[in-house]
Amino acid sequence: MSTLEDLDRRVMWHPFTQMAEWEPLVIERGDGNYLVDSHGRRYLDGVSSLWCNVHGHNHPRLNRALREQLDRVAHSTFLGLTHEPGIRLGAALVEAAPAGLTRVFYSDSGSTAVEIALKQSFQYWQLRGRATKQRFLRLGEAYHGDTLGAVGVGGIDLFHRIFGPLLVQSIALPSPALVGAAESLDRLEQELAARAGEITALVVEPLIQGAAGMLVHPRGFLARSAELCRAYGVHLIVDEVATGFGRTGTVFACEQEEVSPDFLCLAKGIAGGYLPLAATLSTEEIYEAFLGPRSALKHFFHGHTFTANPLACAVGLESLALLREETLANAQRQVARVASSLERLGQLTGVKATRQCGLMVGIELVPRESRPLGVEVCERARRHGVILRPLGDVVVWMPPLTLVDEDLALLEGATRRSIEEVCAR
Ligand SMILES: *Cc1c(COP(=O)(O)O)cnc(C)c1O
Repeated sequence: MSTLEDLDRRVMWHPFTQMAEWEPLVIERGDGNYLVDSHGRRYLDGVSSLWCNVHGHNHPRLNRALREQLDRVAHSTFLGLTHEPGIRLGAALVEAAPAGLTRVFYSDSGSTAVEIALKQSFQYWQLRGRATKQRFLRLGEAYHGDTLGAVGVGGIDLFHRIFGPLLVQSIALPSPALVGAAESLDRLEQELAARAGEITALVVEPLIQGAAGMLVHPRGFLARSAELCRAYGVHLIVDEVATGFGRTGTVFACEQEEVSPDFLCLAKGIAGGYLPLAATLSTEEIYEAFLGPRSALKHFFHGHTFTANPLACAVGLESLALLREETLANAQRQVARVASSLERLGQLTGVKATRQCGLMVGIELVPRESRPLGVEVCERARRHGVILRPLGDVVVWMPPLTLVDEDLALLEGATRRSIEEVCAR
């Protein structure tokens, strides 16, 4: 009889994984902030199952919301029909989002949430007779997903460069995390002054660029770029796929700079990390441009089979309630404790820098020639009971927002030992 590990090696192809060096770890169940493997070993889920888990695994309230919906209907289309969980979650998202975002378009991943914003922005300008507005602005090192439209506004060479010939070209601005807010904003203003008539939208991750290596923006950058976009008649698309739902210490990162974008892209934590769901929120002004008689063909010709999946929406509604009732307050309490942990880890000789925005953390290692230190540290951390996944030389912490003191102690201890062991070699 072949083991699951053997079977996996024989038939599977895993995302962002060099399969030639792949070692399967089979997860059997989840229990709060922990994952349990097929040998019964427990691990703290230090990256929230790729940044999406909010309230821990196997949460009784989320499980109940899912089961109750399952007994009604698992899926029914949103193309030409509607349903209660989709409507109720939509209303709750509008209520929670920055003022002015009044329309919700569902899809099923962060990449599609971004593609929808790009296409809606583009079509909006076409419908308004501004046919020359065809290009997007983005930040250097940006990450907005892996489908071709989203890759077209991405700037991580390692992931994106090979696909260059296939992409919609975008205009890159230097990331304010690398050159400072003033230089990045100057470049933005130059581009807008020179060619706002050709530009559809600026796409940004607010406060912190996640996949770039947890690059924290100087305060004020988001608010000032929003002002510039408004002044020059260019849309602002804010990608809160990673930062949304409490990650940065507020429900949405935009709140911290009182920014109301034209488009808000949500995914990852929207359904608590249980099921694939995404939403692109936009304003009434954008929505209204698409209205007219059916024969005018102004409608938005885009949709996915599993748009607004009712199971995911039911969990999303419960997840948002739970976030406001208890989880957000817990996350806020843990932010200062995480900062103290990072201050201690920052003293280690192998650590070059630490960065934090709420419960998004990067621990950058001093690089070593031809050694993938991030991978080595994360492999070690597993032996010490924590699941981590690096971004190059940056070790990422992205724990569930239900993190408690003992979890953080385990996370810090395992990371410290792993860095010490790897750097001693
Ligand atoms: C993860 C991520 C995406 C892509 O989301 P998927 O659900 O993986 O397609 C987009 N934008 C940001 C900022 C992300 O972190």
